[in-house]
Amino acid sequence: MRTHARVVVIGGGVVGASVLYHLAKAGWRDVVLVERDELTSGSTWHAAGGMHTLNGDPNVAKLQEYTIKLYAEIEAASGQSCGVHITGGVNLAGTPERMDFLRLARARARYLGLAMEIISVDEAQNLFPLLDKRYFVGALYNPLEGHVDPAGVTNAYAKAARNLGADVYRFTRVVELIARTDAAWDVVTDKGTIRAEHIVNAGGLWAREVGRMAGVELPVLAMEHQYVITGEVPEVVASPSEMLHVIDFEGEIYMRQEGRGMLIGTYEKAGVPWSERDTPWTFTHELLPPDLDRIAPSLEVGFRHFPALERAGIKRVINGPFTFAPDGNPLIGPIRGLSNFWVACGVMAGFSQGGGVGLALANWMIDGDPGFDVWAMDVARFGDWASPAYTNAKVRENYSRRFRIRFPNEELPAARALRTTPVYDTLKGRGAVFGAAFGLEHALWFAPAGMEPREDVTYRRSNAHGPVGEECRAVRVAVGLLEIATFARYEVAGRDAGTWLSRMLAGRLPRAGRIGLAPMLNDKGKLIGDFTVANAGGDRYWVFGSGIAEQYHRRWLDAHLPAHGVGIRSLADEWMGFAVAGPRSRELLTRLSPADLSAEAMPFLSFRAIEVAGMAAHVGRISFTGELGYEIWVPSQSQVALHDALVDAGADLGLRHFGARALHSLRLEKSFGNWAREYRPIYGPAEAGLDRFVDWTKADFIGLPAIVQGRSERPPRRLCTFVVDAADADAIGDEPISRGGEVVGWVTSGGYGHCVGESIALGYVQASVVDEAQAFEIEILGERRRAVRCARPLYDPDGLKMRG
Ligand SMILES: Cc1cc2nc3c(=O)[nH]c(=O)nc-3n(C[C@H](O)[C@H](O)[C@H](O)COP(=O)(O)OP(=O)(O)OC[C@H]3O[C@@H](n4cnc5c(N)ncnc54)[C@H](O)[C@@H]3O)c2cc1C
Repeated sequence: MRTHARVVVIGGGVVGASVLYHLAKAGWRDVVLVERDELTSGSTWHAAGGMHTLNGDPNVAKLQEYTIKLYAEIEAASGQSCGVHITGGVNLAGTPERMDFLRLARARARYLGLAMEIISVDEAQNLFPLLDKRYFVGALYNPLEGHVDPAGVTNAYAKAARNLGADVYRFTRVVELIARTDAAWDVVTDKGTIRAEHIVNAGGLWAREVGRMAGVELPVLAMEHQYVITGEVPEVVASPSEMLHVIDFEGEIYMRQEGRGMLIGTYEKAGVPWSERDTPWTFTHELLPPDLDRIAPSLEVGFRHFPALERAGIKRVINGPFTFAPDGNPLIGPIRGLSNFWVACGVMAGFSQGGGVGLALANWMIDGDPGFDVWAMDVARFGDWASPAYTNAKVRENYSRRFRIRFPNEELPAARALRTTPVYDTLKGRGAVFGAAFGLEHALWFAPAGMEPREDVTYRRSNAHGPVGEECRAVRVAVGLLEIATFARYEVAGRDAGTWLSRMLAGRLPRAGRIGLAPMLNDKGKLIGDFTVANAGGDRYWVFGSGIAEQYHRRWLDAHLPAHGVGIRSLADEWMGFAVAGPRSRELLTRLSPADLSAEAMPFLSFRAIEVAGMAAHVGRISFTGELGYEIWVPSQSQVALHDALVDAGADLGLRHFGARALHSLRLEKSFGNWAREYRPIYGPAEAGLDRFVDWTKADFIGLPAIVQGRSERPPRRLCTFVVDAADADAIGDEPISRGGEVVGWVTSGGYGHCVGESIALGYVQASVVDEAQAFEIEILGERRRAVRCARPLYDPDGLKMRG
């Protein structure tokens, strides 16, 4: 066994083997995979091997396509068959809402270049004769579905990697991980120790245990999963070609042919976790006792929908565990605070996703960037708040909803009110309907007196539409009050704080008492953050960013922090805030503060430590609504008092609470982008229209060489605003934008602009067509709607109101 390696991949399931293959293929030498037993001996060996490209996140869908297309390559590179059967798949809808869901999936597939088609029930029956038409209203046909042999795939990856020089050590268990001071690791196994530059935790069922060896509690949990194999089905035997893959969403079952019968798997509502706290090291190549009663309700629906299956009876039941992250997407990437410790776990669909996960992680390790948009899979989307109890509740919920529709305005109930701010109960008493972002409760909108604070889930405009409109109008004509706990906030302080921040951010740092807007770029010149930076004086900066990206940003910032001279800490628990926005916000604040708040004394983009309602506050004059506005921060214990003071003082000014839904509408009217929607690491500042915040005079900042090089070239696409000729449904994101029948871009956000009276969408469009025509089409729920590009924001395009 080697004593040194560049990388040790821990785990020889389909995911670890794929990571090994991609590292070796990219040319990394001295890469090793360590497996405690035989390859596949975790969850991989008993998988049903099904694969498809359908996924709620289009970026994950694209990786699934990559995975499926990769099988031919690894078969050729290894000489090992993967047992690939591309049969095509039929995804059956039993309700009109499900058809909306499928139409949306088809539309998203269109901009990704994935061929999927909506078909009628008759067409579905032609493709899959076992179905009873009475239970369905339509279907989505996906040519890129099928199944593989799980062991064949894993061995093909491993053999192909070996052919490229990688090593695989089977029957070798990692028992301890020791972080060295030189950023390397001592990987202690039961056969000896390997010193590794990097380690990859691809431990699957044992990913938690491997994480714990490095002091990390990963949010993954295994669930028991059952599928059955039927007896012989005469229609299957008589069929001239292999049966298609089928998902019956209403039955919550998936199916494929297995020999002369069918394999039927189900995600039952009352799913059962397996090994909730610790996974036994003795578990290997084992199945769990079957429990048919648990899946009987789903099977009964299946037998009704596909009567031939009932007649065939059940021949065999398989019950095996596999792991999930709280939202069902993989966990990949580096772990904040650890050097060269990577994870590739929580992969619940290894045969659809394993290839893409391996490619993304290998790119990330080699180039410092996954190469495409992996936000939905990044381990940093969870923070320390994602405790084992949270994970347990969310994984069960996610499992039970695997084939259910997640509506765009739906907030899921499990593990809720996990993180709240002091003002939570007060806002609840005022009719707040809450959502959770990064585990934190925040008000989405406020139900007026007499209305139940509950939002109907729908693809169309919901019962919140009216109240949200009222909230928006209050902000535009009077003053609105918004809790801003979902803004991440950090203090960067120390002798070298300015120099360091200036290198980290592409924008100009503000002078004392001022605020600046600053994109953050990676070495490739792509956007990895958009921050508001306030200079609090005395080598102290308050930096505000997206709350959902707190772990993501801290991972990057911490990794670049020098040993001395500057420190960064989160202010999220210490300081709580409210935004007051609207033409009467200055009047409101003046009633509560002795400070001079005149436009001369406190112009736009000022930051002051002043007294508000008798409290020592930090106040920034800034606005995400497009109105005159202030963000007021006070110590957490004073948040309720500040709230009450603002409400009392604002009553006769028309003050109204508003929530995230209204803020979304107001920012669309201003064409203001948002992190994770308009701003993501696949876009550069010029594409996103953030180049105006880049300080080109600075000698150095991360990403400068890359964007200087690209400055002379036209960016490939541009962020644009559209007015959409919508009916009762607005764009929500990821719909294709087309022109003359050709897809030329995609929507990043959409919604109704209540104060301009228009349906608005923001999205990226190929730069070559941006100026050619104003008329585009955006597909909403299967209908192509006329969309007119607006060169300027729809509301107050010169920004006079917020500066006023
Ligand atoms: C019944 C069932 C049906 C399924 N059907 C499908 C399907 O149709 N399609 C699909 O895509 N997916 C399916 N899956 C899910 C699929 O099995 C998983 O996505 C996949 O196996 C995950 O692979 P992995 O490599 O992450 O984990 P694992 O397969 O669990 O591999 C982890 C490996 O790491 C090794 N390991 C752990 N700790 C150590 C250590 N300390 N030292 C050395 N080695 C270690 C383990 O021995 C193990 O081999 C199914 C799962 C089940 C249970």
